[in-house]
Amino acid sequence: MPTPSEKTLQEWKADPIIRDATALTETIWFNPNTRPLADAMKHIALTEADVKDAAARLERFRPYIAKVFPETKEVQGLIESPLRRIPHMQEALENLFNLPLSGELLLKCDSHLPISGSIKARGGIYEVLSYAENLALDAGLLSFSDDYSKLDTPAFRKFFSSHTIAVGSTGNLGLSIGIMGAQLGFSVSVHMSADAREWKKEMLRSKGVNVIEYDSDYSLAVAEGRKQAEGDQRCHFVDDENSVTLFMGYAVAGERLKKQLAEANITVDAEHPLFVYLPCGVGGGPGGVAFGLKLAFGDNVHCFFAEPTHSPAMLIGLYTGLHDAISVQDFGIDNRTAADGLAVGRPSGFVGSTLQHLIDGAFTISDDTMFELLALLADTEDIWMEPSALAGMPGITRIQRSKDYIKQHALQDHMKNATHIAWGTGGSMVPRKEMQKYYDYGSKLCNKA
Ligand SMILES: *Cc1c(COP(=O)(O)O)cnc(C)c1O
Repeated sequence: MPTPSEKTLQEWKADPIIRDATALTETIWFNPNTRPLADAMKHIALTEADVKDAAARLERFRPYIAKVFPETKEVQGLIESPLRRIPHMQEALENLFNLPLSGELLLKCDSHLPISGSIKARGGIYEVLSYAENLALDAGLLSFSDDYSKLDTPAFRKFFSSHTIAVGSTGNLGLSIGIMGAQLGFSVSVHMSADAREWKKEMLRSKGVNVIEYDSDYSLAVAEGRKQAEGDQRCHFVDDENSVTLFMGYAVAGERLKKQLAEANITVDAEHPLFVYLPCGVGGGPGGVAFGLKLAFGDNVHCFFAEPTHSPAMLIGLYTGLHDAISVQDFGIDNRTAADGLAVGRPSGFVGSTLQHLIDGAFTISDDTMFELLALLADTEDIWMEPSALAGMPGITRIQRSKDYIKQHALQDHMKNATHIAWGTGGSMVPRKEMQKYYDYGSKLCNKA
């Protein structure tokens, strides 16, 4: 049999999963190449120590974060989100999909992460802090034992102002990098793709961030950011497609979630499996979180990526084994979706190849389903999220229907003990008027159904 990547594009087009993807049909794919964590880790250059190192860095910055972002004062500068039980939403899903759901569904509210209101407040902010710390350490202005709130001084802001941070983004990453970078005093340039929302650009400009707009999609915005930083020693490019630093910032979520589940008296072990559904754009956010989750829960956690039917970049990259050598556009898929955080046509090669034996699968969801679920979540739980953040919500129904997967993992008797977590990746900063439009559209669809 030829290895996957030896197939031609034409041959791939005849493949059933790819046919579903190109037909924009909602589909699910289970990764046949998963390996036990211990085995998979032998082929991964990143370690648990790297994640611990990131967690320690975030600890050092807590006094600073608490000082400059007053909303984090009560939690002493911890940038973390609530984990919520959503029984009414679970019931609504049972009705919508006409399917009894065993186990319990929870929602991880990264939509309500402090500072920038999306999952990018993990990786994006972490990378800016990392860069700032390295600069200050190298200049002899800071040591690990210092109280980092000293960074909130005119002298430090002046020091950072001679350095630039550049990033390409569909919106939320730019928001995180821009808010954090500007706060420290950096000069920040955000290269925005066409699908980025106007309010995000305005908010960034109001903070003195240099926003550069393009008519093209995410991949070009990233390429332009990369170009800006090339050959400029004083410019740091936040590489959403390849950054190990971003990835580590996301990975810290694993241990944090473990603590939250323990506090909620929720067990995760071989008889109590954990399923996590992660909305995926380029892959860094869900990839980093999945890596952290695997380290925290071993093989008892099952991680699935969720993508729009119009942007199944990671699904295609993993499935073909071609990673960033293939894009959805190669199959004639247009990468046009209202889920702007997920509007990515070419996946991260770094994430795909690093996690190819750890990601348990991927599924797609139509934009209309995301809007319906957005309205349903608002109605049943009074939680408001942006469309992208709902991509993982139907995961529980997809798994429930996947008898083969359940059997293959010998989970038939344990599904009643299962915990399902939809990772709600963004939304609390969306302006009211904009949110109302999302809701009205979703609500109308619900009433039609
Ligand atoms: C960025 C983003 C994601 C996905 O993260 P990637 O690193 O691009 O895969 C999911 N949801 C929202 C709201 C986002 O902004």
